Amino acid sequence: MTTEDKQIPILDALRTPSGHSLVIWCTSCGCHHMHGAGDRPVGEGGGHRVAHCARRDGIYARTGYELREVGMLTKENVVGYFGPQAVRGLRRLMG
Ligand SMILES: [Zn+2]
Repeated sequence: MTTEDKQIPILDALRTPSGHSLVIWCTSCGCHHMHGAGDRPVGEGGGHRVAHCARRDGIYARTGYELREVGMLTKENVVGYFGPQAVRGLRRLMG
């Protein structure tokens, strides 16, 4: 398999209030995953990541995923981008 054969999924990511992390909602695991945002400015923290899924046969295990940073981790954005099911697990992290 060559890299051209890989279809890398793109997932919306939200920046934590601290600014250091990005959060995605993983449809494979049904929970959120946190990824480092590096030192990159808000809005520019995306890019390819290795999947943080616990299951090795999950849908993102082979390809990882591409993060697209879409905004800050607020309740409004969590509901809008991830859906209401994501709010409970992220309440502690939301700004
Ligand atoms: Zn996952």
